[in-house]
Amino acid sequence: MEMKAEVLEQIKVQLRRVMKADGFYAKLLQGVDIESIQTQEDFEKLPFSEKANLRDAYPLGLSAVSEEEVVRIHSSSGTTGTPVIIPYTQKDVDDWAELFRRCYEIAGMTKKDRVQITPGYGLWTAGIGFQLGAEKLGAMTIPMGPGNTDKQIKFMEDMESTVLCATSSYALLLAEEIQKRGVKDKIKLKKGIIGSERWGEKMRNRISKELGVELYDIYGLTEVYGPGIAINCEHNTGMHYFDDYLYFEIIDPKTGENLPDGELGELVITTLVKEGAPLIRYRTHDLTRIIPGKCACGRSYPRIDVVIGRTDDMVKVKGVNIFPGQIEDILKEAEGASSEYQVFIEHADGKDQMSVFVETELVADPEQKKEFEKLLKDLFKTRIGVGIIPKAVAIGELPRSEKKTTRIFDYRY
Ligand code: ZN
Repeated sequence: MEMKAEVLEQIKVQLRRVMKADGFYAKLLQGVDIESIQTQEDFEKLPFSEKANLRDAYPLGLSAVSEEEVVRIHSSSGTTGTPVIIPYTQKDVDDWAELFRRCYEIAGMTKKDRVQITPGYGLWTAGIGFQLGAEKLGAMTIPMGPGNTDKQIKFMEDMESTVLCATSSYALLLAEEIQKRGVKDKIKLKKGIIGSERWGEKMRNRISKELGVELYDIYGLTEVYGPGIAINCEHNTGMHYFDDYLYFEIIDPKTGENLPDGELGELVITTLVKEGAPLIRYRTHDLTRIIPGKCACGRSYPRIDVVIGRTDDMVKVKGVNIFPGQIEDILKEAEGASSEYQVFIEHADGKDQMSVFVETELVADPEQKKEFEKLLKDLFKTRIGVGIIPKAVAIGELPRSEKKTTRIFDYRY
């Protein structure tokens, strides 16, 4: 996508600010002459940043403002211990609320909605973002936070919640529970706003059907405000993002080269007006693509596709690159497969072995179970080109989680 002239100017303002703040980015951009950046190509030569090196800025090295201006911090954890701390100014908090309000508006929500918020509150940016945006929209927020399924369902009934904000796995858990308790007719939900972890069409259909709601994927990450920076509209052809606040690029995760619109790669984000912690060419490790052309809804905000996985989730088995998205596509094809699966990869007897566990009702009958496992094995061989050990398990046997679900476990290293 061609960079607009005013966007380049906004980025240069951000660059000058981080240089002046003399923190993490000043070090990263050492030797770069900002005034010589005249074109998109010049910009695309700037170094990337990513979570792994943002950690070096711990605790407050990302701050580009004086302490008086910081009103809040959020932090994203990770697997390696040291968190990334993101300072927010009041303007950043207000901007985030505005972005989130736009998302809700695109999802067709109004002041009359009652919004039950189940993502967590605290250092990470989930719950509070969902709340800020709903309040800015003028809807009634019900800030439940995660867990306590009994209370969630009671409030859903008594408060007549119309919108559920949740991770896909928690939405599924609630849907199953509502079904089990036979209380669906007491539930007034119309929409689900689902945090954008990778989730397949099958899971989406199940949640949508069992809760009787329209589902919207909301995208975001703590380093870049939080959730609420992109959402799909009623046409469900990718997620609109707000190009007056953020600049998106798609790169080849291996080479770092910019890719043309429409091609699948890693999303890289540059903030345009963030004060507390501007980000320059931040690698999200999320796999998606920019969808060319205009959406049928007429909105001018450009679109990215739903996130099909993480570059870190990409596993190489027997020389083949495998994304979770491909596995979900196979499960869509496999008659009888539910949306729930787990993959274990290990090195045994001198070679890689990939075991794929899939929930299915077919396990009740030993013959059907065997046939289903054979079908899985064949599909993996023909679609991805890799041999697997198929394992059919009963519905509910694989763990559900309120947080993001890990589905691929690599025990080779
Ligand atoms: Zn649209």
